[in-house]
Amino acid sequence: MKGWLSYFRFRNFSFWFWGMLTYIIAALIWWFISLETQNRQMTRFRLERLNTQSAAYDKQTQQILSEQKRNTTKYVSEGITFLALLLFGAFVVYRSFRRRISYIAMQQNFMMAVTHELKTPIATTRLSLETILHRKLEESQQQKLLQNALAETGRLDVLTNNILLASKVEESGGISTSTPFCLSVLLEQTVTEYTARFPARKIDASVEKDISIIGEEKWMQIALSNLLDNALKYAPKETPVSVRLYADSSKAVLSVADQGSGIPQTEKKKIFYKFYRIGNEITRSTKGTGLGLYLTQKIIAKHCGRIEVKDNLPKGSIFVIEIPLYAH
Ligand code: ADP
Repeated sequence: MKGWLSYFRFRNFSFWFWGMLTYIIAALIWWFISLETQNRQMTRFRLERLNTQSAAYDKQTQQILSEQKRNTTKYVSEGITFLALLLFGAFVVYRSFRRRISYIAMQQNFMMAVTHELKTPIATTRLSLETILHRKLEESQQQKLLQNALAETGRLDVLTNNILLASKVEESGGISTSTPFCLSVLLEQTVTEYTARFPARKIDASVEKDISIIGEEKWMQIALSNLLDNALKYAPKETPVSVRLYADSSKAVLSVADQGSGIPQTEKKKIFYKFYRIGNEITRSTKGTGLGLYLTQKIIAKHCGRIEVKDNLPKGSIFVIEIPLYAH
C-alpha cells in the first residue's frame, strides 16, 4: 500500500515536473523567435530608411547587417547557455527526487520487514517454550523445539544488533579503540555458534590461528554474523558454506562462500546500500531488512578495511573482507 503511495507521489511529481519543464522550454523558444523577428524587422526598417544615393550606403548597409548578425549570435548563445543550465538543474532535481522516493519506499519496506522480523521469532520461540512447558514430550522432541527457539532468538539477536548499530556506524570517523583482538578466535566462536543454531547445515571453516586486528570486537562479530546469516539464508539447505581466514602480508583476509543463487553483476554494488534488497523472487521469499550488508560494509570501513563480493564458481557468491593486521 505504502509502495503504491510513493509510486503515485512520484507519478504526480513527474507529471508536474515534465509539464513545467516543457512550458519553460517552450517559453524560451517563443522568446527567441520573438526577439529574432524583432531583430529582423528592425534591420529591415533601418535599411529602408537609408539613402540609396548616399556614398556611404554600402558601408551603412554592411554595418546594419552585421549588427543584426551580432544580435542573432547573442540571442542564440544566451539561449543555449540558459537552456543548458536549465536542463542541468532539472536533471539534478529530478535525480535527487527519484532517489528520495526510492529511499522512502525502501525505508517503508524496511519498517514492514522489521515488524515482521520481530514478531515471527518471538511467536515461534513462545510457541516452542509453551509446548515444552505444557506437554509431556520425548527428549528428542524437546531438543528439537529448544533448537528451534535457539535459532529464532539468534535471528532476533542479529536483527536487534543491526538496528542498534545502524545509527552508530553513521557517525563519522573510525573506531574509538586501539585495542587488538584475535579475529581467529572470534571467527571460530561465530562458526561454532552458527553450527549449533543450524545443525542441519554444513559450515566448513579453515581458520589460520593468531590473526589479530585492532577494532571493536562486538562490531566485527555483527559483521561476521551478517555474512554467515546471508550465506545460509540465500543458499539451498543441502549446500555447504565455506569460511576462510588467513594472513596475506599485512592484511587479514576473510571470506564467506556459498553455493546459492549468486548476485548479478548489476547488483553487486547496490546490495551494500541501506535497506537495499535484490528484487527477485528468491530474496522476496526470504526474510530480511536490507540492513545487514550496509552495516557490514560500514563496520569494515571503520576498521580501515574493504569488502567485496565475487562470483563463486560454478555457483554462488564469495564475500571477501580485507583488514590491516595488528603488528605485534
Ligand atoms: P537482507 O536483510 O535482505 O539479507 P542484506 O543487506 O544482508 O539484507 O543483503 C542485501 C541483499 O543482498 C539481500 O536482500 C539479497 O538480495 C542479497 N544477498 C546478500 N547476501 C547474499 C548471498 N550470499 N547470496 C545471494 N544474495 C545475497
